[in-house]
Amino acid sequence: MSDVLGAASVSGAADHVCSAKGCGAPARHAVVWNNPKLHKPERRKVWLACDEHEKSLADFVAMRGFLIEVVPVEALTDADG
Ligand SMILES: [Zn+2]
Repeated sequence: MSDVLGAASVSGAADHVCSAKGCGAPARHAVVWNNPKLHKPERRKVWLACDEHEKSLADFVAMRGFLIEVVPVEALTDADG
């Protein structure tokens, strides 16, 4: 059954998926942001984004003044999330 193969392929590197609503594309960028009203200054919230959604997700938090930086997903650390 193809379902078995699909489930197996989700683990590992493939678990970086774009955070945009309805998008299941592999994420290549990480939008790092912080809402000072909700989070401690050292907290780094991360939205994963594919090439197509990187700009719209980054613009969304940048407009609110929450954007810290956009980095490649490979650059994320365990402190991000
Ligand atoms: Zn996307």
